[in-house]
Amino acid sequence: MTLKIDLHSHSTVSDGVLSPAQLVTRAQEHGVQVLALTDHDETGGLDEAGQCARQAGLTFVPGVEISVTWAGRTVHIVGLHIAPDNETLNSGLDTVRAGRLDRAYEMANRLEKLGFTGVFDGAMAFVSNPELISRTHFARYLVQEGYCRNMQEVFDRYLGDDKPANVPVRWATLKQAVDWIRGANGIAVIAHPGRYNYTPQQFDQLFSEFRELGGQAIEVVTGSHHPSEYATYARVAQRYGFLASTGSDFHGPNDGRMELGDLPPLPSGLTPVWHDWF
Ligand code: AMP
Ligand code: MN
Ligand code: MN
Ligand code: MN
Repeated sequence: MTLKIDLHSHSTVSDGVLSPAQLVTRAQEHGVQVLALTDHDETGGLDEAGQCARQAGLTFVPGVEISVTWAGRTVHIVGLHIAPDNETLNSGLDTVRAGRLDRAYEMANRLEKLGFTGVFDGAMAFVSNPELISRTHFARYLVQEGYCRNMQEVFDRYLGDDKPANVPVRWATLKQAVDWIRGANGIAVIAHPGRYNYTPQQFDQLFSEFRELGGQAIEVVTGSHHPSEYATYARVAQRYGFLASTGSDFHGPNDGRMELGDLPPLPSGLTPVWHDWF
């Protein structure tokens, strides 16, 4: 029997809609045996999730998803099996979170100029952790108000990387993210590589640089990839010698994305990132 393993998920500590404990409970209900919580730029939910997982008899992997700016665009680097209390990691994450509130005011301004109303307070109503206000919270508000039919439409029209209401941020550097993760005894993973708008040359540079910095894995199967991309990133993992990871990138039950643990097996010929964990 294959292991039901999900190494990418979000709680209310970042832009998910379930609390860490609710997330673990839902994972268990869906038969997940190994779960990583990987909130954006935050480790604040890991204790609660870990405790709940122990009670539920589920193997918990402490994780994080760090926002990085590389070649002018945002890349997400997941850290798996990190030590949640590592000071260098957590003070680094503090600095990454610091710009979010000002950026949120500016995003609200831009959306108001586009004709929407009540935007800042409306987005805030979806936020549990004010340090972690994100584009997702604005998107939920615009959908709630009927301004857009779904989250995808919000990103396609307004909040996507090159769209009018997105406010670019300088996140961490790739080196900082990998150093923080490795310093906390974690494994660095490039999240959903299929989502980035880089040229083939830039992708080669990104993968090479990441490997030189000590990055070890990429996500191959993820809710953020179209199934046709699984084979593409399986080949990348083989070519660059990366371990392969898998995760739903679950944010909530009605987000139109993948359910917890609802993942096809990794393509054959890859070494899973969990090969030496159990
Ligand atoms: P931020 O960290 O504030 O830039 O927000 C990024 C978050 O927005 C990601 O973690 C996703 O949850 C969400 N997101 C980005 N692009 C999309 C998209 N096309 N559809 C739905 N959610 C998206
Ligand atoms: Mn997110
Ligand atoms: Mn991501
Ligand atoms: Mn994610």
